[in-house]
Amino acid sequence: MDKSKRALPKPTPETAHFWEGTKSKQLLLQSCSSCYHTYFPPRPFCPACGSKDVKIQIASGKATLDSYVINHRNHPAFEGPYSIAIVKLEEGPQMMTNIVDCPQTPEALQLDMPLTVKYEELSEDITLPLFSPVGANDE
Ligand SMILES: [Zn+2]
Repeated sequence: MDKSKRALPKPTPETAHFWEGTKSKQLLLQSCSSCYHTYFPPRPFCPACGSKDVKIQIASGKATLDSYVINHRNHPAFEGPYSIAIVKLEEGPQMMTNIVDCPQTPEALQLDMPLTVKYEELSEDITLPLFSPVGANDE
């Protein structure tokens, strides 16, 4: 991946804690103290019940592949086809991401396959959470 050509997300007051988290290799979700709903993306109130009594929760980094598309058009930051995936985190929320460390083909990208988070530092401020198949980085 050519990091310099990738559009960087811009942290906002609502998402700043999330990007601070990924910098220190932690995936931070928020969970509601009223109804115990765990959610992503970050927002200052619970999307399920509206409560502002929300706290930050560290996610396990485990997820499964929920759906994806393979983009065959060239992207300035990627070589060849690449997947844009929705993963379902162990804690429940879904996250849009890329699946890395495996061929970007339907044969390799099996729905419900177990994934684990890995972190790609793009800039001083932004470290992106990406996901790779469990076992892909084993020796
Ligand atoms: Zn709630």
